[in-house]
Amino acid sequence: MIRHIYIHVPFCHRVCPYCSFYKHTPGGSSKDAFVDAVLAEARMQAQRHEFNTETIYLGGGTPTALSESHLERLLCGLRETFGHQPLLEFGLEANPRTVTASKAQMLKRVGINRVSLGVQAWNQSTLTVLGRDHSPEEAAETFWNLRDAGIPSLNVDLMFSIPGQTLADWSYSLTESLKLKPDHISAYNLNYEEDTEFFARLKRGEYTEEGERDAEMFFHAAEQLTAHGFEHYEVSNYALPGHHSIHNQGYWSGNDYLGLGPSAVSTIDRQRWKNIPDTDHYVSTIQQGFLPQCDAESLSHNEWLTERIALELRTSRGLPLHRIPHVEKSTLDSLQEHGHAIIQSDHLILTLQGRALTDPIATQLLSEDP
Ligand code: SF4
Repeated sequence: MIRHIYIHVPFCHRVCPYCSFYKHTPGGSSKDAFVDAVLAEARMQAQRHEFNTETIYLGGGTPTALSESHLERLLCGLRETFGHQPLLEFGLEANPRTVTASKAQMLKRVGINRVSLGVQAWNQSTLTVLGRDHSPEEAAETFWNLRDAGIPSLNVDLMFSIPGQTLADWSYSLTESLKLKPDHISAYNLNYEEDTEFFARLKRGEYTEEGERDAEMFFHAAEQLTAHGFEHYEVSNYALPGHHSIHNQGYWSGNDYLGLGPSAVSTIDRQRWKNIPDTDHYVSTIQQGFLPQCDAESLSHNEWLTERIALELRTSRGLPLHRIPHVEKSTLDSLQEHGHAIIQSDHLILTLQGRALTDPIATQLLSEDP
């Protein structure tokens, strides 16, 4: 039974130099045809699978780069196809500058109850490095458009360890975010992804990765946000009570999910496939009556277990010990002795110190061959 649906909207007004998602400026692609294609794909999939839909989430790309009428048609069509019961979460990603007061009111009217606003930083100099096309003032205005419209759960997306960003800059971004009183804050360590301009600059030595700086900013966020009542419920995510992301928790728990739209990934019964990562080709394939899938694979037990360990270890619930019977007791003892983890209710739960080392700890647990 599928509980989670993701829709990939590939349009962005401007392409950020650090971003590795499938996205492009609208160019000649018809947004009308795109919306028709996603809704047609949704209807095809609704006939093939059983749904008990709890969450629908639109990401990208920039879902709010669609015009108000296109977005409304898409959201209403998705509800019609999958929303036969009240959704626990109906959310989307928004970019500052793409949410007018009128668009925010439409989102509320069609049932959107969670919006994640891609602010990334509140210093203009950092925004310029990131190639963002919005100012801090525009980000705040967009936040208030959403809040005034009555969207019940608002997330502010931030990034740290950006080239040139100091600890004081990062602290300022956190403080400015807190002033808005959001319900949720995501604080991601910048990743240098292959095939991005940032990655090329890293390889040329123009940018550097510094583990110590990453850790310092990570600990600073945890300290500042938990002091303001946020629960640090996943390595990069902080929520006020009642505002955890249900959609993301579904991914982290290993629930099945269906992805719609170009490049979207689906995982159902340990079968994984990806949609064609080309908007025009995606649209024309659906217009011809075919599902736009490519890159299908069956997840082996080891692949599945690797994902479970990597994702569950990041959460405050922790990793159930029954997933790792192959791990030596001495390894678990050592993690506890070094203050990196505790064992509680048959789960291995990383401490704050351990969360700064999540990836190496996951690698260590996996290296003891299942
Ligand atoms: S707006 Fe978001 S999806 Fe678009 S290029 Fe920038 S980071 Fe990527």
